[in-house]
Amino acid sequence: MAVLQLREVRKTYPGEPPVESVRGVDLSVEAGDMLAITGASGSGKSTLLNLMATLDRPTAGSVVVDGMAVDGLSDRQLAGVRAHRVGVVFQQFFLLESLNALDNVANGLLYRGVPARQRRAAAQEALERVGLGHRVRHPVTKLSGGERQRVAIARAVVGRPAIVFADEPTGNLDSNNSGEIMALLAELNSAGTTMVIITHEQAVADACQRQVAMRDGLLAG
Ligand code: ADP
Ligand code: MG
Repeated sequence: MAVLQLREVRKTYPGEPPVESVRGVDLSVEAGDMLAITGASGSGKSTLLNLMATLDRPTAGSVVVDGMAVDGLSDRQLAGVRAHRVGVVFQQFFLLESLNALDNVANGLLYRGVPARQRRAAAQEALERVGLGHRVRHPVTKLSGGERQRVAIARAVVGRPAIVFADEPTGNLDSNNSGEIMALLAELNSAGTTMVIITHEQAVADACQRQVAMRDGLLAG
């Protein structure tokens, strides 16, 4: 069964004139896939990611994540889908600077009603999975860019979501760190995590098992 299914998905931002960022996208992602979505800046990649990750609702069309159709859901139910089924990694990491690595990752389980002790135990394990078992008590402000992105990846996978989305995950990293983050994502994928990675870098796309290209709000290939 597909973990993610998009049918005729559109997103139009109001304005004069309105901006048709996504103009009718069909896409199916199967369990275990590692898919790259490439495309130039402004082609609609981030808009599409927000729709796939249920951070935003489409203007038209259907989005089904892990068997749940987003269309008919209330905001509260949508938040539940995000908390239980989806993990997201961003270019800018979006860590809470006042917290250490462990608490940043444990926060990934906050909206699931998991007790604090179990959140911390799961966070410890997730940080070990991303190679940061020796940095759990570090304030994230003391970590390098590559390490911060590892923390963000641990936060995305700590709840073992059905699918993980990454929007330009290596966009703020040098080529060494970029290669290491892609190796980590590939390793997590080999261990069973379904992944969709948005990128405008060909090297990043080449690390994925399947690629599709976005152009002017439409997917090709
Ligand atoms: P990419 O991630 O490929 O660079 P985006 O999805 O960010 O592309 O943007 C696609 C198009 O949608 C661009 O023309 C952008 O200006 C426009 N856009 C994105 N977000 C908004 C928004 N919130 N309101 C209006 N226009 C937007
Ligand atoms: Mg973008």
